[in-house]
Parts: sequence; C-alpha cells; structure tokens
Amino acid sequence: MPFVRGVDGRIESIKMEVNLVQHCNYGCQECSHFSPHLRAGAADVETFRRDLDALALVYHVGRFRFVGGEPLLNPAIGEFIAAVRTSGITNVIEVVTNGSLLHRADEALFEEIDSLSVSAYPDSRFDESKLARAADLCRQHGTKLKVNRIDRFRLMQLDAPIEDARLVNDLYRSCQIAHSWYCQTFADGWFYLCSRPLFTDAYLELKGASTQDLVRRDGEPLHEPDLYQRLRAYLGRTEPLASCSYCLGTAGRHIAWRQQSTAEKRSTEPLQRSARASLSHRRLRFLIGWSQIERAVLRVAPSLRLARGLTLAKDAVLRA
Ligand code: SF4
Repeated sequence: MPFVRGVDGRIESIKMEVNLVQHCNYGCQECSHFSPHLRAGAADVETFRRDLDALALVYHVGRFRFVGGEPLLNPAIGEFIAAVRTSGITNVIEVVTNGSLLHRADEALFEEIDSLSVSAYPDSRFDESKLARAADLCRQHGTKLKVNRIDRFRLMQLDAPIEDARLVNDLYRSCQIAHSWYCQTFADGWFYLCSRPLFTDAYLELKGASTQDLVRRDGEPLHEPDLYQRLRAYLGRTEPLASCSYCLGTAGRHIAWRQQSTAEKRSTEPLQRSARASLSHRRLRFLIGWSQIERAVLRVAPSLRLARGLTLAKDAVLRA
C-alpha cells in the first residue's frame, strides 16, 4: 500500500497525476497508459473541477502532475492548471511531456507551473533547441526543469488475465507505480490507485478479449458520503486491483524504446504473451523484499519525507 498520513481529516500523500488527454503524438511500445491504442480524447475541465473540489476537501499532495498521452495536446491546459492552483490540493504543479511540442507551448505555461518534467526519447520530433527554449523560459519564471533521458521501457501489457493469484499478488506488492511513485489519479467522478483501470478495458476490447468494467470495480467514487474514510480504506488495501491481473506492474523485462507503426497500434491480434516469461524475476524478488523493509521502517517511523527518501534510495539501487 502507498504510504499516506491522515492529518486533521485530510489525507496527506506524496504525489498524484491526471491524464489531460488519453492520446499522444508518439506511439511508444508498452506505454503504461495505453495511449497508442486509444482513441483521441481530452479531459473535460468542468468535470475535472467538480472532482477536484470534492477531493481537495479530504486529500492533499506534495506534487500534482499533468500527464497523458501528451498533455500539451489539451488546448485547455491552462484552465486545468488554474483549477488545481485554486483548489489548494497541492503546492507544486508539474507538467510531464515528451518535449516534442515545447517549441510552441505558450510562455504563460512556464509561469503557471512549478515544475516541467521532460521525458526525452531518442526521437527526431524532440531536439535540443526545443529543450533550450524551455530551459530559458523555466529560468525566467523560476520553474524547475527535469530532463529524463529514456531509451527503454518495460513489458507491461497483457490481454489475457494471469490465472495464478499468487503471482498477481506479488506483482501488486512489488508495483512501484502504486506504492512508490504515487500515480494515484481521478477521472469522471472516480479515484484510482493507478491509471490502468481507466484504460485497460479499451485495450482488451481492441484485442477482442472480454471487458471487465475495471473503471467501476477498481475505483472509489468521489461524490458519495464519507470520502475521507473510504479513501483511507482504499489506499490501505492489501489486495490487488482487478486490473493487476492484466498488468506486469514494474517487474516486466526491459525492451528498447521504439515507436509502433499504425498497424501495430491498431492491431486486433492477441498478444499471446506469457506473464511469467515476460518478467524479470530477479527484479520482482528485489522489489518484494524492499517493500517488506519499507513497510517495517515506516511502521516504526511514519513520515512522508522518509517514504520519499526510501523511494529515491530504491530507485538509485535499481539504477546502479
Ligand atoms: S494495475 Fe496493479 S500492477 Fe498494474 S500499475 Fe496498477 S497497481 Fe500496479
């Protein structure tokens, strides 16, 4: 379970993120948000505001990230940022982008956000001149700039459920997205531990598999009574989401980053992928071991700062 604290009737968490669009101008294989396989679709600002207002009464995060797809494809991005600022749900607003559209991003964007995180892939649509412009505007407006150079992804997608309940449990317990990177999200009146419940059914449908109503089964409604208590129980869960049966979490084997062709993105052919054969079992064992240590440490010293420090330490060990 992700480490959160309850302070004066409000949950304190480390980070959350919201998809501003579900589509992308890139088509990365194994995109964790399934963007290459989804129809174009943008978040609606009025629905977002309503959800945000309900959530902000009982929940506060250290950092609020706008993601996608490619979030700069949503022309109303400024309205979403303003809504977050007004809500008081966070002090830090971050936009995560592939950087390919930074040359035409409105200068006001750099003033409105606190942090810009660029996932720089080896793709000709991103180049250093776009980054240089962003760096300059970030400097002018006191906005933090992070650049992550990424040339590999992890296998993650499945279109048939993992039947081994123990493996599903291990994947859930080891999942950094849920427990370390705090990718909690919300959309259309529901709160989620990660974004997979939002998009997995569309992928299953594309592949001709039966859909699972994961949007409802794996979410917590935002506009019903006792939200604080319900969210605490939801975030404290030890059992996997239904979506975890269709996901390798963060234990999949590495693959080189690559763009898919249009035919691959739209392919209805089943994956025929074995979950066990797609895993890094060494990584899975390490992540489970680390999560046990993490839980023990945070039980003795419950602190968001410590939880964040443990995540950074784990990521550093995994990179070494
Ligand atoms: S579906 Fe489960 S395993 Fe996949 S990212 Fe979400 S919590 Fe992790």
